[in-house]
Amino acid sequence: MSVPPFTRPASMPSAAQTLATSAAQEARLRHRLEQERAWGDDAGIVRYLEKTELDDRLRVAGAVGALYSPHCARMQPAGLVAGLAEAVTRAGVRLHESTPVTSISAGRARTPAGDVRAPYIVRCTEGFTADIPGQHRTLLPMNSSMIVTGPLSDKAWKSIGWDRFETLGDEAHAYMYAQRTADGRIALGGRGAPSRCGASPARSPPCPGSATGRLAGNRSRPAGRGCTGCTPSTGRRTGWSQPAIPRARPCWPAWAT
Ligand SMILES: Cc1cc2nc3c(=O)[nH]c(=O)nc-3n(C[C@H](O)[C@H](O)[C@H](O)COP(=O)(O)OP(=O)(O)OC[C@H]3O[C@@H](n4cnc5c(N)ncnc54)[C@H](O)[C@@H]3O)c2cc1C
Repeated sequence: MSVPPFTRPASMPSAAQTLATSAAQEARLRHRLEQERAWGDDAGIVRYLEKTELDDRLRVAGAVGALYSPHCARMQPAGLVAGLAEAVTRAGVRLHESTPVTSISAGRARTPAGDVRAPYIVRCTEGFTADIPGQHRTLLPMNSSMIVTGPLSDKAWKSIGWDRFETLGDEAHAYMYAQRTADGRIALGGRGAPSRCGASPARSPPCPGSATGRLAGNRSRPAGRGCTGCTPSTGRRTGWSQPAIPRARPCWPAWAT
C-alpha cells in the first residue's frame, strides 16, 4: 500500500458544534437537547451555547446558538486507513489490493486473479455496490461533495475565531458540515445529489458546479470575508441504504483534510 508520510496524527481531539441560524433551527436544537437529556447525557456530554458564548468560540453569520459537545475526534482518513492496514497486517491478515471483485455469491468472491472462498464475505463497496452484478439496487449511490477555501489570512481568522478547531454542522434540513483545516482553510461538505440513473462513476461527475455553488452559498459558513474564494472541490459516491441520514449525534466524526 502506497501512502504519503503523515506529519500529523491520524486523530486529533476536537469538539463538535451544531448551530442554529433561525428560530426554527433553534427550536429543533433545544428539542434535541431535551432528547439527549432523556438519554442521560448531562452537560459534560452536550450543552447549549447561547449566542454570546458561541461568539467567543466561533462567529458564524446569523447564528443564534449551538449545541456543543466536547467529545469528538477529527481524523485524517488516509492516516486512519494506513494505520488500520499496518495494524491488521501486524496481526497476520493478508491484504490484496488492486483486485476488483467481479461478483459475490454465497461463500465466494470472484476476481480476475481467482476466487476467494470464505464462510462469510463482507461486501464493503459503499456507493460502488451498484456496479456489482446482481447488486444494482442494494444501495442507493449518492454523490457527496466538498469544497475548500484558499488559506485564510490571520486577519480573517481573528474575525472568525474557531481557535479550537471544533467540527461544525447546523440544524437546517439540508445537510452540511465544515471544519477549519490544519493548514488554515475552511472545508465545507454537504450531500444530496443522487447519481444519475444507471451512471457509472466515470459518467457521474463527482462534484457538479451546481453542488459547489450550493455549498459555497451555504448560509452557515463562518463570518469573515476570507471565506468567499471557494474553488477546489472534491466529491465521490457514497452508498445509502434508506432515505435516512446515518449519522451519530452529537459527534459526527469529521475528516481533517
Ligand atoms: C466528500 C466526502 C466527504 C465525507 N466526509 C465525511 C466526514 O466528514 N465524516 C464521516 O464520518 N464520513 C464522511 N464521508 C463518508 C465516509 O467517507 C464514508 O462513509 C466511508 O469512507 C465509507 O468507508 P467504506 O470503507 O465503507 O467505503 P469506501 O471508503 O467507499 O471504500 C469502498 C472501497 O471499495 C472499493 N471497491 C469498489 N468496488 C469494488 C470492487 N468491485 N472490487 C473491489 N473493491 C471495490 C473502492 O475502490 C473503495 O476503496 C464523506 C464522504 C465523501 C465522499
